Amino acid sequence: MHIDPADILTCIDDGLSGSPTGTPVAVPIVQTSTFAFDSLESLGLGLAAEHETHVYSRGRNPTVEVLERKLATLERGAACTCFGSGMAAISAVLMGTLRAGDHVLFVNQTYGPTLQLGAQLRRFGIEHDLLLDLDSDSVAAAIRPHTRLLWLESPGSMLCRTLDLAAVAQIARARGITTCIDNSWATPLFQKPLLHGIDIVVHTCSKYIGGHSDVIAGAVITDTARMREIFYRAFMLNGGVLAPFDAWLCLRGLRTLPARMRQHHESGLRVAEWLRTHPRVRRVFHPAFIAAPEPAEETLTGWSGVFSFELDATEYDDVRRVVDALRCFRIGVSWGGVESLVITPARRDNGPALDAQRIPRTLIRLSIGLEDPGMLSDDLARALAA
Ligand SMILES: *Cc1c(COP(=O)(O)O)cnc(C)c1O
Repeated sequence: MHIDPADILTCIDDGLSGSPTGTPVAVPIVQTSTFAFDSLESLGLGLAAEHETHVYSRGRNPTVEVLERKLATLERGAACTCFGSGMAAISAVLMGTLRAGDHVLFVNQTYGPTLQLGAQLRRFGIEHDLLLDLDSDSVAAAIRPHTRLLWLESPGSMLCRTLDLAAVAQIARARGITTCIDNSWATPLFQKPLLHGIDIVVHTCSKYIGGHSDVIAGAVITDTARMREIFYRAFMLNGGVLAPFDAWLCLRGLRTLPARMRQHHESGLRVAEWLRTHPRVRRVFHPAFIAAPEPAEETLTGWSGVFSFELDATEYDDVRRVVDALRCFRIGVSWGGVESLVITPARRDNGPALDAQRIPRTLIRLSIGLEDPGMLSDDLARALAA
């Protein structure tokens, strides 16, 4: 595991410079909807460049901007815009880059609502496919003449399968296709996709970046030209803005992100390794255990605490009994908080849908929090014996 020392400083330091009368160490919350100008002329100039001026908080806001600067720095990107949720960020990228007649290729197991949004885009004349064969030849073969966007997850949802980001970026660039990755699992501390040739990074900040299960937020990081398109075509008009207080919660989350990620990395690996030896566990899906040709170490400098395992069983009720028997793990959606969570994609009646996405029917996903990993393993041992 490695975290760049400069990134730790970016997370902690809010960049407010000193003054003789004292400077706040935490970012002030600028709770204002509108900004006043000293003349009509200067308001006019502001309105002509809302992506870089404080005019109205549906555009730029000073508190949100501090978070945007930090996330851009951490991802090594030129520009960042924050959103009121991860899905608002994802919607803005799709709306900002696609038009009727285009095709988007989702590569790897993909966050459910992202795929659902892809299906909604059909109503606007945009087609999509989901590709689950991750080698370069399959990616190249799945590209159609009107493919305009490759949507990536790596590690992917549920199974944590990884992509060769540089290879996929190269395939896309050679064909003039934009690439976007949902980098929420790794956080910018453990993976920097822009450095491997990916064009756009999105995050839900509701998971590790916020880190305490108390805020919904999202972000897009890319170059200035793409950011401006996404800003004016989608962000300003969709209205999915991040409130200044919620940006402040994310900034507070960032301050402990390096410390939390170290712990999630270690505890996650310990619990995953323990599960691997359990007779009732068929397979553990953690990127540390995935062999080539899906090399994880190329781009990932650490593991987060989210992974899954396949129960050695066939029935939904077996899964239900194990999940319900857990005590330290709370049952719920989401992940990336300080408390451990458990969920399964399995329902009593969705076996065929899982098969279509190559997700085992007895899969259980864990988000390892900051509790003692020995205690979490004990809890799993008890539940698996149930
Ligand atoms: C939760 C999640 C999102 C959506 O983020 P919200 O902030 O809940 O809108 C997107 N991608 C992944 C991988 C997620 O887990």
